[in-house]
Order: sequence, then C-alpha cells, then structure tokens
Amino acid sequence: MFTRMEIGRIAGIPIYLDMMFVLVLLVFSYPYFTAGSTQLVSAGFIIVVGILVSILLHELGHAFAGRLFRAPVSHIELTGLGGVAHFERSLPKSVATRTVIYLAGPGVNLLLWVLLDVLAGLAAAGGNPMVALPLAVLSYVNFLLMCFNLLPAYPLDGGHTLDAWLSPVLGAQWATRIVACLGLAVAAGLIYLALPNAIFLMLVALFVGLANWQALQSLGRWQR
Ligand SMILES: [Zn+2]
Repeated sequence: MFTRMEIGRIAGIPIYLDMMFVLVLLVFSYPYFTAGSTQLVSAGFIIVVGILVSILLHELGHAFAGRLFRAPVSHIELTGLGGVAHFERSLPKSVATRTVIYLAGPGVNLLLWVLLDVLAGLAAAGGNPMVALPLAVLSYVNFLLMCFNLLPAYPLDGGHTLDAWLSPVLGAQWATRIVACLGLAVAAGLIYLALPNAIFLMLVALFVGLANWQALQSLGRWQR
C-alpha cells in the first residue's frame, strides 16, 4: 500500500514506515514548528526524528534479543500507534528467554532515558540550551515509552511478560484472563487520563481496551 513504505534495512531486517506514524509525530511537534523561532523549529525536527529513532531502537532491542535465542524477526513496522517487531514464528517456550525478549525493548528506552538525560545536562552546563531542550524532551519521551510499554496489558511488553510468568503457574487460560482484566483496567485508567481532550491518548486507550477485550472473548469461546 502507498501508506506504508520500506525506509531501509538494519542488520537485514526490513523497516516499514506507516504514514500515520509520521502524521502523529508531526501533530505532536506542531507547537515547536509554529513557535516562530528557527531554533525551536530545528528543536522540533530533532524531537520528531528522535522519537522515530527511539521507537525503532526499542523494536531493534526485541529483534536482537530474539536473534540471541534463534527467534528471528521478519520485519519491523512503525505504525500510527507505535512500533511492532514481527517475529517469524512463536517465541521459544522458556520463561526466561521470553522475558529477555519482551523486556529488551523497554530496556533500550531505559538506557536512552539515562543517556539522553546525561547529554542534556552536559549541553545545559556547556551553555547550549537549544541543544539541551530536544535532548531533555527525548529523554523524557524514552522514560514515558518505557513506563507505557511495561503496563500489564496486551499487546504491550509488560502484558506479554506477565503472561509468560503466570502461564507456567496458573495455565495459559488463567494467565490470559488475568492479564486481559488488568489490561482493561489499564485502558480505563488511560481513558481517565485522556479526558477531556487528549485525543491521541484516547485512541491508544481504546486500542489497548479492544485488544484486551478480544483476548477475554477468545477465552470464552474456547470454553463453550
Ligand atoms: Zn516492545
């Protein structure tokens, strides 16, 4: 489709960019572009590219962790709601392996959060506030990406990790049931945070809510 294009390959993994992703980024950085200062416009541009790179590095974290355990990724997709690393087949059964693969993404955001914060501090100390600003924003973005992805909800990394931990103890059905119920609570919390006018967060909340509702529904059908 025209809305999705391959922007390149990293370590042989094709990276697809959905136009919605670009649109969402532009909407977010709009205040910088209309601030009327060339320096702020460049800061806005660095932030847009920086968020794209941060999300891409998060997905590459999953991909490289997967490679360690012979679970290759066929492609990475950057969509309007974030990134997805598509694995070629289901992940290895081992709980430890799954945990490493799922947490590698948020782990990358943790590293970027700390690294960018240090760099922002250095730039500010060196008298470069216009360099410090985008670095500080990107540091905070990575902190948010880490926290969001660790939430216990499908299809987030936190939800998949919890599922991997609960399954051996309670069985796959109860693991799904618990994560999906937590996921619905997470979605409700996000909707509450999004009110009255955070439209993007509202969309994310509805997406999370739907994914977890579907996970619960699929269990119901198995039982009948
Ligand atoms: Zn992830």
